[in-house]
Amino acid sequence: MDFSDLALSSKILAAVAEKGYIKPSPIQEQAIPAVLAGKDVMAAAQTGTGKTAGFTLPILELLSRGNKAKANHIRALILTPTRELAAQVGESVATYGKELPLTSAIVFGGVKINPQMMKLRQGVDILIATPGRLMDLYQQNAVKFSQVEILVLDEADRMLDMGFIRDIKKIISALPVQRQNLLFSATFSPDIRELAKGLVKNPIEISVNPENSTAKTVKQTVIPCDKKQKAKLLCHLIKENDWQQVLVFTRTKHGANRLTRDLEAKSINAAAIHGNKSQGARTKALANFKSGAVKVLVATDIAARGLDIDQLPQVVNFDLPNVPEDYVHRIGRTGRAGADGFAVSLVSADEHKLLEDIEYVIQEPIERKITEGFAPVNELPPSRPIKPFKAKKPKKVKHTHNEHKDGQRSSNSATGHKPKSKNTRHQVSGQDKASNKKTGKPVARKVHPDKAKQQGKKDPYSASR
Ligand code: ADP
Ligand code: MG
Repeated sequence: MDFSDLALSSKILAAVAEKGYIKPSPIQEQAIPAVLAGKDVMAAAQTGTGKTAGFTLPILELLSRGNKAKANHIRALILTPTRELAAQVGESVATYGKELPLTSAIVFGGVKINPQMMKLRQGVDILIATPGRLMDLYQQNAVKFSQVEILVLDEADRMLDMGFIRDIKKIISALPVQRQNLLFSATFSPDIRELAKGLVKNPIEISVNPENSTAKTVKQTVIPCDKKQKAKLLCHLIKENDWQQVLVFTRTKHGANRLTRDLEAKSINAAAIHGNKSQGARTKALANFKSGAVKVLVATDIAARGLDIDQLPQVVNFDLPNVPEDYVHRIGRTGRAGADGFAVSLVSADEHKLLEDIEYVIQEPIERKITEGFAPVNELPPSRPIKPFKAKKPKKVKHTHNEHKDGQRSSNSATGHKPKSKNTRHQVSGQDKASNKKTGKPVARKVHPDKAKQQGKKDPYSASR
């Protein structure tokens, strides 16, 4: 199938071609016609498979056929769990819609609210928002929902993990009853199905990959090592392998800061990105990493979902995540759109239980390889046979919005063991509203072209896959 078979206007097709896409990805093939038909859609596909264009392209098409947004009104609302993701989705909307007479704006917390209010005054066709800031704007009457035709929840599973359920429900209850609902997620977890019950009507359900599967293009390795050696080992790996761009995940914000300092001390250019950093610092760190000015980006799980760093070759888990599903999302930052990727996990003996949980979720053992000179004194116990995967029952989602910050999932981080608390996955929350509102710059803007950097890219979804 070609994009031209998808009933999209020539202006959208031109923007897609300029981006260098040759064929729609499998999720796009199925989602685009369903959205264009006005149906509610629930779509699950592993990360990096092109979900953004799967909803953005048909939304642009549908909106370009209708009336403009009135003052303070919006016609399509796209909710994302993190600010970075909102910015990224907003960029896609701007890129794909650059030839269309539609406007879009991005709003999220941590930056000044006034410029966002100003932008909304004229009304925008597509608003991309994180839930917390959107609620603030709504409560201050800066945004009106009565003209909303389409609602998208992007990375819906992440949104639930981050404790946004209450805000999402409030927003949904303020929307017109008659509307199209699109729910995009990496997985159809039981919690997602629970949320969907109150949201979508007779949805078309699209699932392209098995739940929690990792991209086949990512080569995964575990390097057993002692905890105290990890920073040294990472420096060694970066230098030895001449890694030029590596995303490193740590469990805590403190750990991310400390590791960044250790790397800098060894003359390796590094920056940290996590929920305690100002939005300005987060944006700058990511931009510098993408441009290559910074070699190592050290992140907490805030960066694990949705972020799309073009051609990122290497991900390192400095610590294993407490929630095994996060492993899948972390390593999904590499090997995107069919490119090769490498994911290395530095695992100390105290983390063996976390490793077991991960191998259970992905249903395969991860190859172990000791690095010469870094053989652990405390050996990692050998891996045990993996039990067949059983889906969990839906949990009652607990409202812990803004009580916790990212990276604090573990109530027992000293041991690295998974806390037994029932609601672990829902205790992480809203860095969206939490931080400083002083630094920011306007983020709302008119749709405008972004550079078409992907010219000449090979078709990653061709028959060879
Ligand atoms: P997801 O939301 O599923 O994690 P994204 O929408 O972020 O994935 O897309 C992942 C990458 O694939 C992006 O760099 C995007 O530009 C690229 N991409 C999307 N659709 C196509 C396509 N049809 N052909 C080639 N590349 C694509
Ligand atoms: Mg996405």
